[in-house]
Formats: sequence, C-alpha cells, structure tokens
Amino acid sequence: MIVKDAVCPFCGCLCDDIEVEVEEGRVVAVTNACELGTTKFMGENRLKGPILRDGDEWMDISCDEAIRYAADMLLSAERPLLYGWSGTHGEAQCVGVHMAELVRGVIDNTSSVCHGPSILAIQEVGHPGCTLGVVKNRADLVIYWGSNPIDAHPRHLSRYTRYAEGFFLENAFRDRKVIVVDVRKTETANIADEFVQIKPGGDYAVLSALRAIVQGKTETIPRTVAGVTREQLVRVANLCKTAKFGAVYFGLGLTMTRGKYKNIRNAIELVSELSRHTKFTISAMRGHYNVYGSNEVNTWMTGYPFGIDFSRGIAFYNPGETTAVDILARKECDAALIVGSDPAAHFPRKCLEHLADIPVVQLDPYPNATTAFCNVQIPVAVTGIDAEGTAYRMDGVPIRTRRVLSTGYPSDRDVLSRMYALMQEAKGR
Ligand code: SF4
Repeated sequence: MIVKDAVCPFCGCLCDDIEVEVEEGRVVAVTNACELGTTKFMGENRLKGPILRDGDEWMDISCDEAIRYAADMLLSAERPLLYGWSGTHGEAQCVGVHMAELVRGVIDNTSSVCHGPSILAIQEVGHPGCTLGVVKNRADLVIYWGSNPIDAHPRHLSRYTRYAEGFFLENAFRDRKVIVVDVRKTETANIADEFVQIKPGGDYAVLSALRAIVQGKTETIPRTVAGVTREQLVRVANLCKTAKFGAVYFGLGLTMTRGKYKNIRNAIELVSELSRHTKFTISAMRGHYNVYGSNEVNTWMTGYPFGIDFSRGIAFYNPGETTAVDILARKECDAALIVGSDPAAHFPRKCLEHLADIPVVQLDPYPNATTAFCNVQIPVAVTGIDAEGTAYRMDGVPIRTRRVLSTGYPSDRDVLSRMYALMQEAKGR
C-alpha cells in the first residue's frame, strides 16, 4: 500500500508531500523525505509494552497498570512537572494542560530550552511574519541567521528558498539571493551568495550596525563590528533595502547566544526598519515537529506559551522561575510526567540529578536517554505515523497529519485521556 501526501513528523517544516510504502504493517520505503524524515518513518526498536523499574531491572506491566501508576503519581505529588509536548499532537497537548490544572502542577514544553527567548521578544515587539508559501513565491532575498537548515531542516531550502520555484520570480534560482550569518562556515554558508562571519556573541552589535546603516547613519559605524567589515555590512544592508521581498529565518544560534531575547528583539526591529524601504519578514526556524503547536495550545488555553504554573489555582507564567530547567535545578518538583521529548539528552546535569531522585513516567515510543531516569515508560504510537492528529508548521499553519499504518499502540492522547479520567474520578470531578 502506498500512502500519498503523508506529513513528516520530524522537524518544524512538516513536509506534507511524503509518499510512504507500507507492507505487512511496516514502512518499507519513503519518497520525498530527507534523511532525517526517512529515518523517522523507518524507525524500529520500539518498546513492546509498558515497563516498570524494579531495582536494577525492568518488568513488564499492563497498560492499565502503567496508566494507574502515572495518575497516582501525579495525584500524590505536591508540585508535579508535566514536560515535553513538542513531539506530540495538539489534541494530546490539550489534555496535558487540563491535567496540569487539575493537579495544580507546572506544564512546560521544549521551547523553554529552544525558542523561548524568541517568544519573549515577540511578546515585546510583535512578529512581522508570513507563511512559508509567501516566502517561496515572493522572496528574492532570504537570510539565515544562526541557523543551518542543510543539517537541521534539510528541505527548507528545496521547498521554500534556495532551490524552490517562485510564482512571482521569473527564475527563482538566479533571482533569489541567500545570505548566511553565522559564527562558523556551515554547510548552508557554502551555498550562500554572501556569508557574514561574526565573532561569537557579536549578533546584537551586528544587528545594531545594520539598523544604523539602514537608517542612513553609516558614518557612525566603526571599521569592523564583531569581526565584520563596514564594507560588508553596507553591502548586506543595501542588498536588503533593494530586495523586493526579504525574509529572515533565525535559529538557536541567534536566540540562545549572548543577548538571547534582546537579539531577537533587535532582529525584529531591523526588519521593521527595512519594511520602511521594502517588504521584509522574520520567522524562527522551529526545530521539533510540533513545538509551535505546544506554544499555540498553551496560549489559547492558558494565555501563556510555555512554563505555566497552576500552583496558585490560576495560570501563572514567569520564565526563569516556572520553566522546567529552573524547577528541576531548584529541586522543586516531586514528580515528573514526560511526553514527546527527551530531556535527559538535553538538560543540565543538575536537573538530571533531581530527575533521578523523583518518580518519573515517560510516554515515548522508543527507549531514549530519559528511559534511564524513568520509573515507568509507556510506549505510544508515533504521532504522524501510527496516530493522526493536528500539528503546527513552523510558520504557524496547522496541518492535519495522517496515520500511515496501524500498529495497535495507543496514541498519546488515548493514554493521557485515560489518565485524566482516573484523576478526575479521584478528585470527584
Ligand atoms: Fe521531515 Fe523536516 Fe526533512 Fe521535511 S525537512 S522531510 S519535515 S525532517
């Protein structure tokens, strides 16, 4: 059986033109996906059923027992943390928010360790963004700043920018210029028309210099700014001002370096300056599959995009205080439910030391680094492969993802809904 127009569940591009060939309940071939997406579709080594830690061993338990364990753990905790959510669908994220509210816990998603600062900047100065389709069809200048799509979002270039056709561009490959700004010469820099190499931590200064040049204050710019010559800065500013439609895509190289959300604020303000001369937009290169959706669902349910603390009985948000890394580092939470993410692979050692001391339940199809910290792991269907649902693309477009095979694994949403029902019953709701 061949499933057409499947949606890739790996990165924020959510490529929706994938063809998947299924034979005897297994994916045997994938067409159109990049290497990352193909590997995800072909993924093996799933856990067969829920497991419970028993000393140094694991023992098999039933799904009912695992769900009961997780519900009891959350109900008896004083300050439970519900973390992850970027690898699952909006429908599951929605149940997660209800659960956090019921137990007065903290719900946080992976954006607190990736594009959280970008969201803080957007809260301050807004987001002059647009869809990927608009960029594909109109942009004659694309800037990748602190992002390396060849490695992290491989088809971003072929579907929307460098190698894509453009409806309003006669010859997109010739007419569309690509600028890469980074601290090192990445794979993407190799295919750029202009590479601006800046010294680590120099993004804010370079953005400020470009803003000054765009405002006509070139004489205020020193001979070099963070390792970039004035001549190159003037050339880049002129390329931006003379473009018909420009788009900036920034990654963690901008949002997670010195300056953090102030970098993004400065970049957005540069884009606003440029929009006095031409049309310019800016967007984040969202990494995890549905991390954008976790921000959307949290925002429309609680008013806040991540790091939401229900301990006061109302939604409270204070990044740096109510975010997962901070709560774990302060040894504050006394139980953790991990869904659709692998914090043990990314969090600082101090956080993991606390994670090792508290009960942890993880919902994930595969054993991963966090498995070593779990008391119980419940294998679930892979969202976008054997479970369907809604995910948001990196430009904020919600896409209904398809199920390409049936495996019998429950979806995140099924497991969480059963957990939530038990918790409601225990609370007499
Ligand atoms: Fe999947 Fe991202 Fe590759 Fe597209 S670019 S196929 S969404 S991993």
